[in-house]
Amino acid sequence: MATPYHARNIVTAIPGPNSVELAEQHRRYVSAGVGQGKPVFARSASGATITDVDGNTFIDLASGIAVASVGNSAPEVVNAIQEEAAKLTHTNFATTPYAEYIEVCRLLSKHVPIDGPTKSVLVNSGAESVENAVKIARKYTGRSAIVVMENAFHGRTNLTMAMTMKSMPYKRGFGSFAPDVYRVPFSYPLRDEFGMDGVAAARHAIDSIEVQVGSDQVAAIIAEPIQGEGGFIVPAPGFLKTLSDWAHEHGIVYISDEVQAGFCRTGDWFACEHDGVRPDLVSMAKAMGGGMPIAAVTGRAEIMDAVQPGGIGGTYGGNPVACAAAVAAIRLMENHQLDKRALELECIARNTLSPLVEDVPAVAEIRGRGAMIGIEFVKGDSMEPNGDLVQRIAARTVQEGLIILTCGIHGNVIRLLPPLVISDAEYVEALSALKEIILEESNN
Ligand code: PLP
Repeated sequence: MATPYHARNIVTAIPGPNSVELAEQHRRYVSAGVGQGKPVFARSASGATITDVDGNTFIDLASGIAVASVGNSAPEVVNAIQEEAAKLTHTNFATTPYAEYIEVCRLLSKHVPIDGPTKSVLVNSGAESVENAVKIARKYTGRSAIVVMENAFHGRTNLTMAMTMKSMPYKRGFGSFAPDVYRVPFSYPLRDEFGMDGVAAARHAIDSIEVQVGSDQVAAIIAEPIQGEGGFIVPAPGFLKTLSDWAHEHGIVYISDEVQAGFCRTGDWFACEHDGVRPDLVSMAKAMGGGMPIAAVTGRAEIMDAVQPGGIGGTYGGNPVACAAAVAAIRLMENHQLDKRALELECIARNTLSPLVEDVPAVAEIRGRGAMIGIEFVKGDSMEPNGDLVQRIAARTVQEGLIILTCGIHGNVIRLLPPLVISDAEYVEALSALKEIILEESNN
């Protein structure tokens, strides 16, 4: 009989002795403000598995928060980094430009769902890309108000904290926050009064914009096409399209924040494509660098060119080594059609997990698209969020050889973000183990 395939290999207690020792040093030398999600320390990783400093191997269902989509240490990305580092580590693009930056911008223009000519600026992080998108929209429109969504997460810098909704841990004690940011309801089909009527939910949000600000004051509306940290919330069909159409009618720049959902993760190159949205600007980061820190704003050329030379950019933005990694990662996505692979992964996840909605009263919903799937937990048959149960499940998963993240305003959602190169066997093994843990913990 064939030996069953096991990608996980747990050989010590979790955490093992080397992780325990590193945890002590972590407490001693690393700011307490830096979160430590898992009790194990990574030593190496490959594809969809991570091996810790004690030799335990875990299946990665987090991708370092949606970054390692082409797999951890993908050989093509590693080669590109090594070759570029040996050739050119840094000049600063605005001082002495280089071809690698332009090639990334060309590839971004090829894939963003924006009609007509597009241009880009490269930066270092998701928050920086959101900040720059806002700056560009303000400059282009000559207006200052920014409209954001309930449950939104856009980063940890001052402006993006103002744009993010959840106070703990992202905002508490860090004020005062940037002004001229207005929050309106997002569509949340499981919980809001509009259910699957996305057009009605959008009209409700638009009413709120008119009441709070007035359309002629708004520089930009920004929305995550599927909300990430907020709970993997998929808006009802028609919500994003109605909102973006209204923005276009009123000279408002529509920004799709694709930092988490972009680059093939949801079955399209960019998640807003599913809803037929044509954004003016796209903010992106995470998966685009294949693990290297690089981010971008890509948008309609007319908008991107409204900025005075030197008004956007920075010392490190579009560093040549990070650009080489991004080119390699984007080519891997193209060559392996990782957008289509994400849809196959969705089928595997739904086949394994969907019965939980019927079988486990605490599982309220399984939602998402492609390889961005969330499981929302509630207390019994009520709709009260059940963050405690999610904490227990998450603690068990690492013991069982899985790296999993949680999310949600109330911390009551398990999120699945596997590398898009995970094999069927690895994903089935991981999901089956997760399902067992959910069944056991829900009965405790
Ligand atoms: N926007 C979205 C939608 C995100 O999910 C994140 C990070 O999770 C950010 C912005 C901020 O990105 P970064 O952590 O790279 O600054």
